[in-house]
Formats: sequence, C-alpha cells, structure tokens
Amino acid sequence: MTHDVIVVGLGAMGSAALYHLARRDVRVLGIERFEPGHERGSSHGRTRIIRHGYFEHPSYVPLVRRAAAMWRELEAASGGSLMTVTGIAEIGKPDSVLVSGTLAAAREHRLPHEVISAPELTRRYPAFRLPSDYVAVMQPDAGFVEAEAGIRAHLRLAVAAGADMRTSEPVISVEQIGERVRVRTERKIYEAGVVIVAAGAWATSLVPELSLPLVVTRQVLLWVRPDQPELFRTGWFPVFMIESEVGIHYGFPMLDDGLLKIAKHHHDREVVDPDSYDRTVSAADEETITGPLFRMLPAASGPVMAAKTCLYTMAPDEDFVIDRVPGRERIVIASPCSGHGFKFAPAIGQALADLALTGRTAVDLRRFRLSRFARSAG
Ligand SMILES: Cc1cc2nc3c(=O)[nH]c(=O)nc-3n(C[C@H](O)[C@H](O)[C@H](O)COP(=O)(O)OP(=O)(O)OC[C@H]3O[C@@H](n4cnc5c(N)ncnc54)[C@H](O)[C@@H]3O)c2cc1C
Repeated sequence: MTHDVIVVGLGAMGSAALYHLARRDVRVLGIERFEPGHERGSSHGRTRIIRHGYFEHPSYVPLVRRAAAMWRELEAASGGSLMTVTGIAEIGKPDSVLVSGTLAAAREHRLPHEVISAPELTRRYPAFRLPSDYVAVMQPDAGFVEAEAGIRAHLRLAVAAGADMRTSEPVISVEQIGERVRVRTERKIYEAGVVIVAAGAWATSLVPELSLPLVVTRQVLLWVRPDQPELFRTGWFPVFMIESEVGIHYGFPMLDDGLLKIAKHHHDREVVDPDSYDRTVSAADEETITGPLFRMLPAASGPVMAAKTCLYTMAPDEDFVIDRVPGRERIVIASPCSGHGFKFAPAIGQALADLALTGRTAVDLRRFRLSRFARSAG
C-alpha cells in the first residue's frame, strides 16, 4: 500500500502529527524504532509542565494557548485526563531570567498573574524556604500534562482513524526523489508524497546533509517521597520553578503515587550520543538536584524512590526547528525540544499535518525556521 505521508518517530510530536493526519482521512504511516512508551528518548517520566507566561520569549504564548485548548480536545476525544491545572510559582530574584522573562510575557499578553514576596509565598505554601530577596510570579492557568498518556492517546486515536503504524523498525534513511519521498528502514523501503521527520534526539542522523546545529544532552529526573506529604497535595500545591545561583530547579505536586518529581533544567550541558550515553543515575546526579532543592524546599526532603535519565535536543538559540527542507520541500523536519517542547505537542502535530498537506499553516512557525542557522553561520 502506498501512503500520502510517512511520519518517522512516534514520540510526542510524531504521535500528534500522525493523529492530525489520520483524522483528515490521509493515508498515513508512522514508523518508530522502539515500542511506544519506551524510555530512550525525550518524552517519558509521566508529566511535563505547561505554563503560559513564557520566560523564554513572549512569542510562544499564542502557541501555548492553542496547545492548552487542544489538550482539552484530546481529553474529550480520548476519554482520559491529560492536563491538570495546578497553577505555577516561578521564583527567583526579580532580575533573574525566569522571573523577568515570565513577567514580560505575562504583561505583553495580559495573562492573569500576581507577583508575591518569598515570605508571602511561604505563608501560602509553607513548604518553601527561600532567600528573602526572591519573588514568585504566580499564574493560575499553568499545570502539567500527562506525557506518556498523551502519546498513547494520540497513537490510539490515530490508528482508530485509519493510520498505519510500524514499531521496532528503525528508519535508516530518508530521501526525496523527484515528487516522492523514499524511507528506508531495517526491514523495507516505503514511498510516500511527504515525510515528517520527528526523530527527537536522532533527528540529525536522518538528515546529515543539513548539518543541523542540534546537540543532545543528558537530563535526570528524580522521584522523592517527601517528609511532609500534606504540604504537596495536587489540587492545592502548584508546579514550581526556582532560579537560584546554580540554575533552574523545578518540580510538581505530589501525585497518586505519593511521590514528588523534581529535576534541574539543563542538568548536564555536555553533548552525548543518544545511542550510548550513561543512563545510570549517580549519587552526584541526585545531589545536583536534591542539594539545592531540599534547602529551598526542606519539606520535600526524603528518600529518592526512582530516577531516570532523559534527553534534551538543544538548538543553539534554545528555540525549536520546524520547517520544510529548502529545495526538498517534501521533507518536513520537526525538532521542538530545547528542553521545553512537550506542552506544545497537539498544536505542533496539527501544524505539521498542515505543512505536510498544504505547505503552509496558520500556526506562526517563523521563529523555528531552518534559515536562521544559515544566517547565524554567515
Ligand atoms: C527531563 C525532561 C524534562 C522536560 N520537561 C518539559 C516540561 O516540563 N515541559 C515541556 O513542555 N517540555 C519538557 N521537556 C521537553 C519535551 O519533553 C520534548 O520537547 C519532547 O519530548 C520532544 O518530543 P519529540 O517528539 O521531538 O521527541 P521524542 O518524544 O523523543 O520522539 C522521537 C521519537 O523518534 C524515534 N526515532 C528516532 N530515530 C528514529 C529512527 N531512525 N527510526 C524510527 N524512529 C526513530 C524515537 O525512538 C522517539 O520515539 C522535557 C524533556 C526532558 C528530557
């Protein structure tokens, strides 16, 4: 059978693209090198933060709004809970990147928010013990999305709408030949009109000729059993991010397993190979997260019950890459990571379906164009 579109990689972005193509009655094939739900890429570890006052740049705010609405649509279509609104506290010195950037985005887009002092934050949420010159930007509409369940929902609904799926089948190469694309896997060769490459940490190896300046870094997630669980209840305690002199730490409210998930953004900045990096979590890794965080959140102190590594695929400007390849427009590249892409998955999946079928989309992707790298190289 021939397909209109092939999606390579069925993680966060590929699963969403597969769904949005299948529901438009397109003959679509998704190919994944592992089994969905695997822990080798960037999308495992149950939850991801969704936040609106985007400290990285205010231009992300419309995309977050769209994505939040689409997570609700996906919940309705799949019948499962995928997004929990808990509010967020983004904490640091007033001139920190996190606080100043969050405020700039919140003000520009008139997002509901409130700035409170560290003592006031501790009065509301006694778990926090912060330097007195820190402030917190509180936003009520943030929370977390269920990462693994979100991917499962997209894939299940895609298959129900007619998508074909091959798993445990690594793609070796992707090429455009005239008006067709050819996708070669370890098992066979497929042809289609368009291919979307959503291969996460492996993106560069499938389009080596582009010399994408993306690098892969190792990250660590910990789950701890907090000393005072009553201070971290979901539905009351917010998602939080704290910028201190050692970087940005973040965490989630306690879930039904009685555990808190905590981590450090950019845990490691060293570049790794996604096929051979060290997936064990050391005592030093744990200390990088628990050392600073337990000082600022002593009620969270407690034994580490689980630990996982995960991968960031970083662009030099920490934005995403979403574009058609110049001169080979039938190949669409999607690398929306840089450590903050998951929340956008449904909106990006829809935009990828648009790009694959019509070459354009109503979603503003200008920030994510490939041409910016050519400019910075020149
Ligand atoms: C620790 C951590 C915390 C994060 N926290 C947040 C957060 O709080 N909020 C947020 O919005 N984002 C967050 N992110 C970022 C977010 O998770 C990523 O942006 C997102 O997962 C990227 O999705 P993806 O589809 O590009 O990659 P993936 O989900 O990894 O999917 C890529 C898929 O392609 C497959 N593949 C690769 N090569 C091939 C091949 N040759 N053939 C077939 N299949 C192939 C892989 O197996 C994989 O399944 C975090 C990331 C990490 C690692």
